[in-house]
Amino acid sequence: MALLNEYHKPDSLAEAVALLRRTDVRLRPLAGGSQLVGDMETRTVTDVDGVVDLAALGLHQIVETGDRLHIGATATLSDVGSHPLAGELAGGILRRAAQYEGPVNLRNAATVGGVVASAETDSEFYAALLALDASVIASDGEGETVTALADFVIPSAHHLITAVTLPVRALRAGHARIARTPSDRCIVAAVAVVGDGVERVALCGLGNRPLLAGSPLNPPDNWKGSAEYRLAMAEIVRERALAEAARE
Ligand SMILES: Cc1cc2nc3c(=O)[nH]c(=O)nc-3n(C[C@H](O)[C@H](O)[C@H](O)COP(=O)(O)OP(=O)(O)OC[C@H]3O[C@@H](n4cnc5c(N)ncnc54)[C@H](O)[C@@H]3O)c2cc1C
Repeated sequence: MALLNEYHKPDSLAEAVALLRRTDVRLRPLAGGSQLVGDMETRTVTDVDGVVDLAALGLHQIVETGDRLHIGATATLSDVGSHPLAGELAGGILRRAAQYEGPVNLRNAATVGGVVASAETDSEFYAALLALDASVIASDGEGETVTALADFVIPSAHHLITAVTLPVRALRAGHARIARTPSDRCIVAAVAVVGDGVERVALCGLGNRPLLAGSPLNPPDNWKGSAEYRLAMAEIVRERALAEAARE
């Protein structure tokens, strides 16, 4: 069981950030908990005394603003998949990629902000956001930063991701993946987005987080796949994803 000394559920961003700024106790943002709670229970993470639950901050909205789609940080992967615009953007690539984050009970809990903050190398949902040219809005309670996901790193332990925004364009997408079984998380994968003068491919399993094709590759070398194998498969998944996008 996760050992928590403190649990907070603030209803304002300022209060949440003020809690995270405290130096007398080590508090972490809690979103869906699908990663953090597991990490605390398995003692993978031990430098946490308590959590700041983000659920009451009203950051779950998905709204279209002009030519951009605004997805709140605590919107779940299921919320995105079932949303009329977010779930259908570029042929439904976000909904499709979310399927590979985990089973439905995980998708009902895991949030967009949590996926971005965790930035796991095999997150195909993160790769889809990257291919769709997403930007991340982060706040320290005083000001907001807006950063392209490709360049995004959480500025500090007391910054909160509040939303992800995407351009709404007439795009087509392709997805290709290599995994041990169809329901396994990928060893390597690619999400390609084309159309409207755009061609962007994001790759999973080839760096410490998903990255854009053309970036320097530094693949993990682990039980799921050797670095050599991942590099050999990178071009194959990239081409397959682009071919699928071209067919769409
Ligand atoms: C069985 C299982 C297997 C999994 N396997 C994988 C895997 O192989 N690869 C993978 O990518 N993920 C895996 N996950 C984790 C999970 O799917 C994602 O990482 C998930 O997206 C985390 O989202 P969450 O909302 O649950 O985040 P949480 O677990 O609540 O938080 C995850 C991290 O992000 C921080 N955080 C959350 N929201 C914000 C925010 N708005 N601003 C700043 N920081 C924030 C938290 O403090 C924490 O450090 C697995 C989960 C489960 C249950």
